Amino acid sequence: MPLSVDAFRYGSIEGCEGYFLTHFHSDHYAGLSSRWKHGLIYCSEETARLVTKRLKVDPAWLRPLPMNEPQLIPRSGGVYVTCLDANHCPGACLFLFEGPQTVFLHQNAAFNRTSSNRLVRYLHCGDFRACPAHTAHPALQKPVDIVYLDTTYLHPKYNFPAQPQVVQACADMLMKSTPRKTLSDFWQRRSDPEPLEQLVLVGTYSLGKERLVKQLAQTLNTSVFCAHVTRHETLLELDDTELHAMLTRQPLEARVHVVSLHWISYESVAAYVQALQRQGMRITLTTAFRPTGWTFQRTTAPAPMPSRQIEALLKASQPPEFTTSNLVCAPASTPSLRLVNVPYSEHSSFYELMVFLLTLHPLRVIPTVNVGSAPSRTRMKAWLDLSDR
Ligand SMILES: [Zn+2]
Repeated sequence: MPLSVDAFRYGSIEGCEGYFLTHFHSDHYAGLSSRWKHGLIYCSEETARLVTKRLKVDPAWLRPLPMNEPQLIPRSGGVYVTCLDANHCPGACLFLFEGPQTVFLHQNAAFNRTSSNRLVRYLHCGDFRACPAHTAHPALQKPVDIVYLDTTYLHPKYNFPAQPQVVQACADMLMKSTPRKTLSDFWQRRSDPEPLEQLVLVGTYSLGKERLVKQLAQTLNTSVFCAHVTRHETLLELDDTELHAMLTRQPLEARVHVVSLHWISYESVAAYVQALQRQGMRITLTTAFRPTGWTFQRTTAPAPMPSRQIEALLKASQPPEFTTSNLVCAPASTPSLRLVNVPYSEHSSFYELMVFLLTLHPLRVIPTVNVGSAPSRTRMKAWLDLSDR
C-alpha cells in the first residue's frame, strides 16, 4: 500500500500518499516539525491536536481520523483505515488497513492498479498494551494478513502484572500508610504522632502514566502539580476533563506532583521536599513512584521455553496477582522518604502479546521493536512462529 506508519524521520518517501502517526511519543514522531511539507498526516484527533500545538506542524497537513469507523484514504487505490484505541498513551491508536495490494508500476504511476483483486488486511499496532477489548473488537473479527507488532516485551521474563492491579496497589500503599512518631513528637512529649501529611511524586517521560496520577490524586483527594510547564500544557491538550480539573500551577496546593522519571533519586527528592517545606508545606511522608515496565523482576519459576503446548505455556507466563505487598521500597529509602519502583507498563506483557497473537492468528508477524540484532530477531521468531496459521 502506498502508505507509511511512524516513518517521519525519512522525510519524503517516494510514492507515499499518506503518512500515519500512531501516537505522540518522540520515537514515533521523530522528523515531524514546523518544516514538514512531504504529505498528508493521518492520526487520531487527540494526536493531531498535540502535533499542531506542540510541534507547530501546519494544520493544513493534518487529517484527524475518528475512532472505530473505516475511512477511505484518498489517492491510496481504495484503502480503508480504522483506528482502534491502543491502550497506550492518550490518543494512541492501532491502524487496521484494508484494501487492495497496489503495485508501484513506474515513476508517477497511479496507485489504483491492483496486482490482484484480493483485499489485504494489515494491522499496525504502533505501541500498545494488548487487552481483551482488542481481540473482541468488531473490526478484528475477520482474518488479518500481517500484524506489525510492538515487541518491546516479547520475552517470557516480562510477566509484569495487569495495569489496574498495579494502580490499585499504589493507591492502597498510600491509604495503608500510618503516622510514625517523629523527633518533634518526642521533643514535645506528644503521646500520639501528628497526622500524616503525604507528598507523592510520580515519575513520567512525556505522555503516559495519567491513569496512575489520577488514581493517586483521587485517593489523597488532592490536586496535581506538574513540575514542568510544557508537560502541564501538554496535559491540557488531552481529551481528559477529569484530569484538567485536578491540575494546578500552585505546588503547595497539590499533594501529587508529576516529575521526570530520570530525575528521581534520594538526593533530588529530599532537596525538593525541603524546598517545599521551607515554603510552608507540611510533609511527613514522601513517596516517589518510578513507574516503568522494566523494574519488574521475575520471582516465580524459570521462564518458559517456546513450545506448542500452548495451554502450559500461557499458564507458565501468566503474571501473578499483584498487591501492595509486592511494592518494594528501593534500598535508599528512609521511613519518611520512600522510593518505589512500580511495574506499570503501557506496553503488552509477554503473556498479553502471546494471547493477542494466538487469538488473532495472522499470516505473518513483523516485529517493530528489538529488531536491531540478529540474536534478538531469532529469539523473537521462535515465539512469533507459534501463532502461525
Ligand atoms: Zn509510545
